[in-house]
Amino acid sequence: MIPGVRLVILGRQGSGKGTQCVRLSRHFVVPHISTGDMLRAAVREGTPLGKSAKAVTDAGGLVNDEIMIGLVRERLSAEDAHERGFILDGFPRTVTQALALDEIGGDRGVELAIDLEVPREVVLSRLLARRVCRDCGANYQATGRDPRPWICDNCGGDVVQRDDDTTEAINNRLDLYETQTQPLIEYYGRSSRMVAVGGTGTPDEVFDRLTRAVETTR
Ligand code: AMP
Repeated sequence: MIPGVRLVILGRQGSGKGTQCVRLSRHFVVPHISTGDMLRAAVREGTPLGKSAKAVTDAGGLVNDEIMIGLVRERLSAEDAHERGFILDGFPRTVTQALALDEIGGDRGVELAIDLEVPREVVLSRLLARRVCRDCGANYQATGRDPRPWICDNCGGDVVQRDDDTTEAINNRLDLYETQTQPLIEYYGRSSRMVAVGGTGTPDEVFDRLTRAVETTR
């Protein structure tokens, strides 16, 4: 079997990161750990975390580092992540989170961070057209000629616009990405764990570039 991997995928929201992370997790047979999905599940279930996170995520802000680090620490201690590795999607988003992740991982920590590069103008229009399945999280793009009600091809769930996909929240997230998350490129670069991969092109082309980036750094 192909060896596992311990990867962080950076990239603006709307870069196609989520879909590529799902494919990467199947390819390398490691769990896909998306902190955004974990928060959305908490909101749906109405847990105390979900209740406190909802207003922040809807406004396009960042949930407190301490909360996020606790969530990821717990998830990474599960057996699946321990054995073969993980694909982290949406975490870390700040240097504080990256430092904590290195401390949590120890000598089984992140081996490589990949920056999936897609220009801001491109992601802005994709995010405005983004629709997601409320149940399984599958992503779709609205064309203006969409079915109503829109039912997910994968699981039959409702396909909707995310509460945090308003123009204002999207711009907030893109600004925060530049100030809070882009410094991680330098952070991982300092330890030679950073590669950039072009995120434009067909999903298959991007996926090929991503797997090649992993293979060439092994
Ligand atoms: P995502 O699905 O990755 O786009 O995440 C959706 C929202 O969840 C983000 O806009 C943030 O509000 C919140 N979130 C997800 N991951 C993190 C994180 N690592 N740190 C802070 N907030 C996060």
